[in-house]
Formats: sequence, C-alpha cells, structure tokens
Amino acid sequence: MADLYGRNYAYAVDRLRFDATLWALAEAEPNVTTWQETAVTDLLREGEQVVGVVVRRGGETTHLTAKAVVGADGRFSTIAQKVAAREYGRWKRFPTSLLYAYWEGVRPYDETGEPTIHFISPRHGLGVLMLESADGTTAVTIEGQTKRLHGSADGRLADHYHALLRDMPIVQRRIAPGTTHHQN
Ligand SMILES: Cc1cc2nc3c(=O)[nH]c(=O)nc-3n(C[C@H](O)[C@H](O)[C@H](O)COP(=O)(O)OP(=O)(O)OC[C@H]3O[C@@H](n4cnc5c(N)ncnc54)[C@H](O)[C@@H]3O)c2cc1C
Repeated sequence: MADLYGRNYAYAVDRLRFDATLWALAEAEPNVTTWQETAVTDLLREGEQVVGVVVRRGGETTHLTAKAVVGADGRFSTIAQKVAAREYGRWKRFPTSLLYAYWEGVRPYDETGEPTIHFISPRHGLGVLMLESADGTTAVTIEGQTKRLHGSADGRLADHYHALLRDMPIVQRRIAPGTTHHQN
C-alpha cells in the first residue's frame, strides 16, 4: 500500500475499544469523577443561567451543580435541545445513513493479504466500505441514501443489511461461507 500522511496502513477504529480508552484516560485524571450508565435528563437553572444537570442513574434521579456544563452528547444532544441551541450547516437534501457490522474470517482483498481500503459502488445511491479493524475483524459498512437503507417497513434492519450484501457478488467473494459477523 502506498504511503499517505506518513502511514502505509488504514484500519477502521473499533469504537468500543476507542471509547473505553478515552474513558480510561479521563478516569486517570485526579480531578475527574466518572459515572457510567448515567443519563442527563434535564438542566438545572437559576433564572436564565444553567447551573447544573439532572441525571438518572440506576433508577435514581440526582442533581449535579457546576460552574459550566459541556454538552458532548452527540448528534441528538439532549443538552443542545434543552438550551435550544442554534442549528447550522445541516444538509437536508439527501439524507444518508449507514448500516454496518464487524465480521470475522473475511478473505483478504488480494493475494498479498495486506490491509486494504476496499470501496465498492454497487449501484446508484449505495456504497460499501470494507476495512480491516481490530482482532482480525473487518468492518463492512453500507452507506447511502436513507430511503434505500431502511428496507421494508416491517423488516428488521439487520435482515435488510444482509439482503443487500447477498446481492453484491464482489462482497460475497470476500465473505466466504463460515464467515460470521458479531456486531451490528
Ligand atoms: C460506523 C461509523 C463509522 C464512523 N467512521 C468515522 C471515521 O472514520 N472518521 C470520523 O471522523 N468519524 C467517523 N464516524 C463519525 C464519528 O463517530 C462521530 O462523528 C463522532 O463520534 C461524534 O462525536 P461526538 O463526541 O460528538 O458524539 P458521540 O461520539 O456520539 O458521543 C456522544 C456520547 O454522549 C452519550 N450521551 C448521549 N446522550 C446522553 C445523555 N442524555 N446523557 C448522558 N450521555 C449521553 C452517548 O452515549 C455517547 O457516549 C463514524 C461513525 C459511525 C457510526
């Protein structure tokens, strides 16, 4: 594989391991307290001023006060909604989604066996990315127009994911019989 940015390899990040590493790094700081399995459900206010959060943890509700509250809670941020944050840069014209799973036993792209970024464009509106990840797994991601990834209204997304892959010979060539997937 050719060098890019000084590296000659590319891997799909194993999100569970990545999150666990970030968590462990934060937890190791002496002035950080970490709580798992905890959901922010609301903000505490004094007048207009946000002064903390309401959290639900193990069936109990707790109030936590703070000088500053940072909403790092992702795309559907509860914090952003609660403060009615202004939305910008949203692209609505072609909504896209992705369906993915990590697979074991996927055949290498070619006889060199080297990790490869394998992008397949099987048909209009869909793309497939096959990328090696941790522990010998391969992330197989179907990306594309949301309406094409939803499948039938009564179908399960996992079934739709597998049906789409079954229809792609170039993917099937690498997913030999006996290949298993372990995470959707
Ligand atoms: C399959 C896949 C592949 C991707 N690949 C790439 C890539 O190669 N490169 C790239 O740059 N990006 C990639 N992304 C996108 C990237 O993961 C996101 O853009 C990024 O994680 C967003 O970070 P964030 O911190 O804003 O939110 P998140 O990573 O979503 O973190 C938000 C956290 O807040 C927690 N949370 C949410 N609501 C609450 C609540 N009410 N109370 C408490 N906690 C809450 C969530 O559990 C989560 O832990 C990929 C995403 C997916 C799904």
